[in-house]
Amino acid sequence: MDFKNILRKLQTVTENRLMIIMRDTYVHKGKRKQLVDYLHQKIGITDRFVLDAMNEVPRHLFIESVFEDYAYEDRAFPIAAKQTISHPSTVAEQTELLEVNEGEKIMEIGTGCGYQTAVLIKMKALVYTIERQKDLFDFSQKLLRTLDLRPKFQSFGDGFAGLPTFAPFDKILVTCGAEILPTELLKQLKVGGKMVIPLGKTDEQILYRFTKISETQFEKEEFGVYKFVPMLQNKSH
Ligand code: SAH
Repeated sequence: MDFKNILRKLQTVTENRLMIIMRDTYVHKGKRKQLVDYLHQKIGITDRFVLDAMNEVPRHLFIESVFEDYAYEDRAFPIAAKQTISHPSTVAEQTELLEVNEGEKIMEIGTGCGYQTAVLIKMKALVYTIERQKDLFDFSQKLLRTLDLRPKFQSFGDGFAGLPTFAPFDKILVTCGAEILPTELLKQLKVGGKMVIPLGKTDEQILYRFTKISETQFEKEEFGVYKFVPMLQNKSH
């Protein structure tokens, strides 16, 4: 076999391996359907748009393969850089609170492994997402591309600053818990827009929804206690 042939063969082997690794089987799809039924019946998610999107995103591909068998249970898992992928019920609740409409401009703070990003993209939102951990920024960028899910903009940066050049946004979703309200983000919200954000100390937060009534007025609603990874201020953490 000549060198070219060996190379071609190697390439095919690599591609086949990737296809095996990235497989989404009937078993995965079946478990996913059960998870979505659970989110509807037990958690009380009623937004069909959210449930349909979560039925489409192969969550098992966003986590370490050792957890694959549990990917469709309502569990959080460790991902790179000591972060976590949120519980499916938390993703569903946060997304439902955001009241997403097709074509809306949404900024997400905390891309993580990209699962929540994928759900928003499946809902046909225009997603702008920020992650401060390089490993996760790289991982999510690669994975979303492989799955042909395209955020409008993916940023390696600080969520506290938001994305002023792309503002204003219809919606903002913060997937990490902030000790203090990031006021810069509220400035980047359209009047009539909504921001869903967990606020509180590191061990537990309260989930809030802010609705921008006018440039200076906000309505604030509360939705119970959660535990998110912290929204960190600087790179030394
Ligand atoms: N959306 C993810 C949740 C990941 S956990 C999911 O679908 O599961 C929250 C993420 O927020 C972590 O990846 C963490 O690194 C990131 N994060 C924390 N502080 C941040 C900040 N100041 N700016 C941007 N991302 C931040």
